[in-house]
Amino acid sequence: KDTILEVRNLKKYFSLEKGKVLKAVDDVSFDIYKGETFGLVGESGCGKSTTGRTIIGLYDATEGEVTYNGKNVHTLTDKEKRSFYSKMQMIFQDPYASLNPRSTVREIIAEPMEAHGLYKDKKEQLQRIYQLLEDVGLNRDHANRYPHEFSGGQRQRIGIARALALNPEFIIADEPISALDVSVQAQIVNLLKKLQEEKGLTFLFIAHDLSMVKHISNRIGVMYLGHIVELTESSNLYKKPLHPYSQALLSAIPIPDPDVEDERERMILKGEIPSAMNPPSGCVFRTRCPAAMEACATTVPKWHEAEKDHFVACHLYDKTIRKDTDEVAATR
Ligand code: SF4
Ligand code: MG
Repeated sequence: KDTILEVRNLKKYFSLEKGKVLKAVDDVSFDIYKGETFGLVGESGCGKSTTGRTIIGLYDATEGEVTYNGKNVHTLTDKEKRSFYSKMQMIFQDPYASLNPRSTVREIIAEPMEAHGLYKDKKEQLQRIYQLLEDVGLNRDHANRYPHEFSGGQRQRIGIARALALNPEFIIADEPISALDVSVQAQIVNLLKKLQEEKGLTFLFIAHDLSMVKHISNRIGVMYLGHIVELTESSNLYKKPLHPYSQALLSAIPIPDPDVEDERERMILKGEIPSAMNPPSGCVFRTRCPAAMEACATTVPKWHEAEKDHFVACHLYDKTIRKDTDEVAATR
């Protein structure tokens, strides 16, 4: 497994008025392997988009390191930055908002090429644009049309074509299907899969629920209130989620086959995500956790490998804490 991206102890805090601090991303670490899809999942406001944006440099990190192909991305020289930004691209949730309404599709896709001085020859550039349109399931007749002439799914295809314009290696897809009709979601997911195979892309795929991510991700990190609380292979997470939050997220996904009776118990989480300005002490999930114990209020759960390649931050799987708790129970 070749590591392409290393995120270490990444923190992104936002300073707000009256000295308040929003801890959007609070000490997050993970690796992404070359050619895989890494899913980052959590409810809105958990810090997953901020993580993506800090990785790609749209935000400066408050603390911690992001290393891409062995280089710290936050200390690149201007020249290195240029090449870095051609290798890493982003796809957004709302393609309409990220496409200039006054530009034709051709101009939209040409823009990054021109910014990077990719094609001296206009004809060559146009051929490349046609090729990209075909790659994303559109055609050359679309080149001279404007974004508003397209459906949501087609617009996302245009956004993808533009993201591919510089031949990237790594794509951060920030909820690329959340704004689309369910029927269109699978088409876009299949397109991303196809492009990944054809072009050897690596994906960081950000999503707010697990329903689609499980089909495309090799590994998944579950995020809650600025922290990654569980990280493992996609199949592991589905077979045996360890963290109570992951269990709740999974129980919210309906079983697709209507003939199979869904006998699983729905885990409904009480309450809202607490504010990242004032996170709970100890385990950040404890105010909503059905399994919370005494230690959860006082002690931050340790990030550890509870099973092979299965990492979690929860006292339930920490033998030292369990032992203490049992001893306390025994002496009562
Ligand atoms: Fe729940 Fe405690 Fe585990 Fe946090 S550490 S998820 S509160 S059991
Ligand atoms: Mg978001």
